Amino acid sequence: MMSHEIRTPMNGVIGTAELLLNSGLTSHQRQLVEIINSSGQALLSVINDILDFSKIEAGAIELESQPFDLRSCIRGAVNLLAAQATAKKIELAFLDRANLPNSIVGDPTRLRQILINLIGNAIKFTELGEVIISATAHLHAEDRYEIKFAIQDTGIGIPSDRLSSLFQEFSQVDTSITRRYGGTGLGLAISKRLCEQMGGKMWVESQLDRGSTFYFTITATAVLEAIDRPTIQSIQPLRSHSLKILLAEDHPINQRLMLLMLNQLGYQADIANNGVEVLAALHREAYDLILMDVQMPELDGIATTEQINQGWQAIDRPRIIALTAGAMKEDRQRCLQAGMSDYLTKPVRLDELAQVLSQSRSRSTNQAVEFSQIKQSKSERLIDPEVLRQLQFATRHSATFIAEIIDLYFQKAPDLIATIRNSLDQGDCRTFKRAVHTLQGCSASIGAIQLTEQCRAIEEAVDNQGLGKLFDRVIEIETAYKNLQNALQQERKNYVGT
Ligand code: ADP
Repeated sequence: MMSHEIRTPMNGVIGTAELLLNSGLTSHQRQLVEIINSSGQALLSVINDILDFSKIEAGAIELESQPFDLRSCIRGAVNLLAAQATAKKIELAFLDRANLPNSIVGDPTRLRQILINLIGNAIKFTELGEVIISATAHLHAEDRYEIKFAIQDTGIGIPSDRLSSLFQEFSQVDTSITRRYGGTGLGLAISKRLCEQMGGKMWVESQLDRGSTFYFTITATAVLEAIDRPTIQSIQPLRSHSLKILLAEDHPINQRLMLLMLNQLGYQADIANNGVEVLAALHREAYDLILMDVQMPELDGIATTEQINQGWQAIDRPRIIALTAGAMKEDRQRCLQAGMSDYLTKPVRLDELAQVLSQSRSRSTNQAVEFSQIKQSKSERLIDPEVLRQLQFATRHSATFIAEIIDLYFQKAPDLIATIRNSLDQGDCRTFKRAVHTLQGCSASIGAIQLTEQCRAIEEAVDNQGLGKLFDRVIEIETAYKNLQNALQQERKNYVGT
């Protein structure tokens, strides 16, 4: 309840600010709305930390135990923070070791939370240089692994006498510095306890003015087969008008806000004020998707979903996405158990809404989309335009910012490719790997899928067989970049026109 009461007005504040930012504002108005928005986000993150910590204190956090793809979890956290690193001109890289198990059983959301916190800190406290994330696995017993993560930065470092108290709640090294950077001093305390709950430990090594490395371990069972889950990139963007959406939400402000957000993304929706109205609407019309508030009067979201499951055949049922105030595992589990396919946590963010919608398809376009997915596999496509769009939503930046990111890529990529070629000729494995890795990271962050995949494959090949047979592969990279240039220029025009 507490969480619901706090998040509902926050939803109103942040959502409205986000919509205002995307409307035509004068530069003075934009500055003011940006303050509302960033203050709202900052307040929300404090609230989240405090709610989370009080749950941990009360021993009320139960971890999930589900198979998930370890690398996607790590990359998800890295990609989320890539824009922040780019904005500070810091290099952010994930060193993928071949010995990591593909899938493990555990709690991906909480693991991602730890990673986001540590990587976020590393970027926050670094002004120059790089943040490198690495993960290695050691077989413990049978299929049980200890996985060790390291987040290394070249930032301000931590004085040795402060290292031991760092993981205590509300502990910050230097309040004047922290005032500049923001934060509650709860992130490390939460992360440490979460990783202990995952059977691991957390520690730090640091040198003042040289940088810090935060380490943590978790123990987990590996899953033998890879999980076959479609990735976001492999799903084609929709033609927006094709989706028939019903928004079930009782709160008038949230109704208005969600409708505006949907409109902004090019969608329309009908409204139901409670579960009874949802059922009545479904009797009248066939919907592809319901965005369902969980707490509604008369018939709540869970009970409504159960009635839909009983009353409609699987093939006629709309996909149901929960809108929940609680970010906790139990809330989400209740929704999923009731038959909902996914959930969005309030305050709903435009980028998250866009992502959920892009994964939903109207029944009439289902077949066509599936066909195009088969025809055009992930690695054959040069660019996934959705990545840049998501970046713009996620960072709430202007179209010019995206164009600048593309220009930066055009500046950086040719040098990296030249370094790759020269270091191969000179047999300099270390420089070669490093350049391939950086090119992979840059390409991924602008959605250059083919080049990203090629770099990833080369990285694996170097680990397995050294530099010996990579000549042809480097030619492939050079060709892929040539092909990419035109496509990326075209994409740039979608943002700035010229
Ligand atoms: P917050 O960042 O919200 O203040 P944390 O618990 O995440 O809280 O971090 C506590 C303190 O530890 C920070 O305020 C900072 O003084 C220090 N710290 C954490 N990570 C780093 C880092 N990578 N480099 C330097 N100092 C750090």
